[in-house]
Amino acid sequence: MEVKVPDIGDFDSVPVIEVLVAVGDTVAVEDPLVVLESDKATMEVPSPAAGKITDITVAVGDKVAEGSVILTLEGAESQDGAKPATDAPAEEVAEPKAPEAPAAEVPDADVNVQVAVLGGGPGGYTAAFRAADLGLSVALIDRGEQLGGVCLNVGCIPSKALLHVAKVMTEAAELGEAGITFEAPKIDVDKVREFKNGVVGRLTGGLESLAKQRKVQVVRGTGEFTSPNTIAVGDTVVGFEHCIIAAGSEAATLPFLPEDDRIVDSTGALEINGIPERLLVIGGGIIGLEMATVYDALGSKVTVVELLDQLIPGVDKDLIRVLDKRVKGRYEAIHLKTGVESVEAHEKGLTVKFGDHTEEFDRILVAVGRKPNGNVIGADKAGVNVTDRGFIESDLQMKTNVGHIYSIGDVRGEPMLAHKATHEGSLAAEVISGENVAWDVRSIPSVAYTDPEVAWTGLTEVQAKAEEVPYEVAAFPWAASGRSLSMGRSDGLTKLIVDPETHRILGAGIVGVNAGELLAEAVLAIEAGLDAEDVALTIHPHPTLSETIGFSAEAAEGTITDIMPKRKRARS
Ligand SMILES: Cc1cc2nc3c(=O)[nH]c(=O)nc-3n(C[C@H](O)[C@H](O)[C@H](O)COP(=O)(O)OP(=O)(O)OC[C@H]3O[C@@H](n4cnc5c(N)ncnc54)[C@H](O)[C@@H]3O)c2cc1C
Repeated sequence: MEVKVPDIGDFDSVPVIEVLVAVGDTVAVEDPLVVLESDKATMEVPSPAAGKITDITVAVGDKVAEGSVILTLEGAESQDGAKPATDAPAEEVAEPKAPEAPAAEVPDADVNVQVAVLGGGPGGYTAAFRAADLGLSVALIDRGEQLGGVCLNVGCIPSKALLHVAKVMTEAAELGEAGITFEAPKIDVDKVREFKNGVVGRLTGGLESLAKQRKVQVVRGTGEFTSPNTIAVGDTVVGFEHCIIAAGSEAATLPFLPEDDRIVDSTGALEINGIPERLLVIGGGIIGLEMATVYDALGSKVTVVELLDQLIPGVDKDLIRVLDKRVKGRYEAIHLKTGVESVEAHEKGLTVKFGDHTEEFDRILVAVGRKPNGNVIGADKAGVNVTDRGFIESDLQMKTNVGHIYSIGDVRGEPMLAHKATHEGSLAAEVISGENVAWDVRSIPSVAYTDPEVAWTGLTEVQAKAEEVPYEVAAFPWAASGRSLSMGRSDGLTKLIVDPETHRILGAGIVGVNAGELLAEAVLAIEAGLDAEDVALTIHPHPTLSETIGFSAEAAEGTITDIMPKRKRARS
């Protein structure tokens, strides 16, 4: 018997947001099968009869309407209310599905596992640990000295340790406005580096011990596929039933740059080998600007050159305006719509030509993006497709074109962010273990940990305009926030992007101190399908920066009293 979507009112294209059953399951009448979600509500489709599921024809993300076939039930009759053919008791619920790939051991392999994970960054170690927790045997292959990949070793964590130092220094210097002055700071760069390395060491050391406790075999060295079921790591051959490619990305560069120690990428900049007097940052994206924030606080004169027409290209301009104002007052220069044309290295400095300028710098940070590592792992030997840019694409269950090989994290695609990688890693492990799950997120947050921080999630105005999505903006300027004023940092803005009809929250953008921490509330609101009224009626603690989210929601509802509302909600 085919089970179809029943009458669901006026909706003719509703997404499936959850599939609650698997092939082989036995269900009773009224057992929920799938969850659908319209603009107004989520609804479960119950089973019209008892029986065993032999086929499921929908997946998470598919759109369905009344009459769409959801699944096939064996031992049940037609959906028009007819009884099952027999009154035989329902069969026992099936055991969880076994993994799909062949379980055979690879002969001659030195290490034989159910799951090999190639790359030990946040995506890879999360996938490995989750797979081990699900009872699978796992090898985690990484070429680094320490697990943790880019994020822990030369990315998120060391940059945030240095940004913390920068923040405290800047705040101390600015306390003069409140009548407290300190002497000029003495900077011991070796100790700064030690502090940063200490933070990294604690986290990466923790990973080694977590791997041990879970009996994940860590195989160190550079891995390359030699067949669809083997990876060679030096002389060691790792044989696997399933593989998760989590090889990450590395810094892109510019072809015309000379080889010179004074020209560094983000990894070099994080080493804090001295504090240059004049630093040129090529690229006004997140990574370039975070490092600019660090070196500016440490005392370098910073110049930023960006090819496009704004800092952090692609982000809503009203957020960037606030960042712009602050950094223009601190940095030596910001050149937008400008490309660096040439760099010459001399003993005394680096001569750089950009636009109609030729200037000397002591150091250059190249932060022009990152390139995925898909092209350097021998993917062709396993038959895995790699795009021209080096990405390895995969479907909503993280499966590549080769069914038992998965890809996650930076190598899978944009946005290249650690929290996206970890969620993809968990999901891939769960799919391999036989769980019927798929990628189904409404928003992936992004944060630039600059000063002020810029954070956004879900729909942006730039995207809404490009895709012609109807939207309204409800914003709250931090100049009206008691908390931001009392911190001496009223340079901020919080805004919600809402559906004009339902007032459902579609996106959020925040610029200001700690914007990244604040954003989490908006991410949860979007994920939970909340509308502005839900957030407006949630009591936020006073005085906090979090109130700016509550106030923005009140602005959307026309109930705000802390500023003059654009519109007032009339009595109903
Ligand atoms: C300076 C900087 C700051 C950042 N800050 C943030 C931030 O604040 N928040 C955030 O979300 N993201 C941040 N990122 C991005 C974040 O680091 C990445 O998105 C994240 O590390 C991706 O994780 P991953 O597991 O996909 O890959 P990676 O972390 O790149 O890990 C891949 C691992 O695989 C290894 N590997 C690759 N090929 C092989 C091979 N053939 N054999 C063996 N091992 C191999 C690599 O050596 C590496 O250890 C930052 C990045 C940089 C550079």
